[in-house]
Amino acid sequence: TKSTGRNGYHFFEASMNINAHNQLQVIQDLRTALERKEFRLHYQPKFSTTDGVVVGAEALLRWQHPIRGIVAPADFISLAEKTGLIVPIGEWVLDEACRQMRKWYDEGYQQWKIAVNLSSVQFSNDNLVEMVKETLARNNLPATSLMLEVTESTAMHNVEASLTILEQLVSLGVEISIDDFGTGYSSLLYLKRLPATELKIDRGFIRDLAHGSDDASIVSAIVALGRSLNLRIVAEGVETEKQQEYLTTLGCDTLQGYFMGHPMASEQFMAAINALKAV
Ligand code: C2E
Ligand code: CA
Ligand code: CA
Ligand code: CA
Repeated sequence: TKSTGRNGYHFFEASMNINAHNQLQVIQDLRTALERKEFRLHYQPKFSTTDGVVVGAEALLRWQHPIRGIVAPADFISLAEKTGLIVPIGEWVLDEACRQMRKWYDEGYQQWKIAVNLSSVQFSNDNLVEMVKETLARNNLPATSLMLEVTESTAMHNVEASLTILEQLVSLGVEISIDDFGTGYSSLLYLKRLPATELKIDRGFIRDLAHGSDDASIVSAIVALGRSLNLRIVAEGVETEKQQEYLTTLGCDTLQGYFMGHPMASEQFMAAINALKAV
């Protein structure tokens, strides 16, 4: 089919068709992935800059596809969102993360928090708060052990509705982290009203961080903003010792990134924790 539609459409038509075929296959596979238990969670540690201890972990979704191998979230989350499949997948993620955190809790890591990413599609699902409540109860996990990461753009889209949901989640006892901060368009007025306890500076500002760069000024500004709003500041995507040192100097409270620890399967994660303890 030849398109005379929007500017440039025909230009991409061939690749879009291949892509569309591929996408259909991925969608079909996604529909059976839950039943076939093909999803996994990896856990990436988060460290306090004050004393270097692990304060928790972020749960990150992986798809162990029988043919494609491990598929990264970037390659299927948006399709899962478009098809609504992210709702049942997101329920599985939360349940699995809570189950794992309960285990850690019993092993003595009561001070840790498990962080789980919420999609904007889940966020606009009426059932979200009830689902979170039930999942905590089913896993017998204290709500204080759970942190929900919501991106700045999700939180700022339809602000009044978001505030209501976030307040309901907070009243369960869970904490809210504002993810990918700096990439959205937060009005300071609304930011002040968000019942969050944590701001996560987007990796984009960390990547090229060097003394005196624009990014350094932005990070400083976010830290100052966070301080004045009484929020914990997290930097993600920390890949080098230089970044680690500099972000600590700039006043970040928590660091996460490949330099300190990659996302890992739970067994590997505990092995890394035990290795840290042995030092
Ligand atoms: P995010 O929430 O911003 O997660 C951080 C991403 O950065 C993760 O990618 C993580 O593996 C990666 N990362 C961590 N440290 C470093 C580093 O030092 N350098 C670099 N270059 N990258 C680092 P991942 O696991 O591929 O996830 C990508 C995105 O997919 C996440 O971004 C999140 O938006 C989404 N996602 C992952 N798991 C879930 C989930 O369970 N539910 C939903 N709705 N979204 C998820
Ligand atoms: Ca996140
Ligand atoms: Ca992020
Ligand atoms: Ca991101």
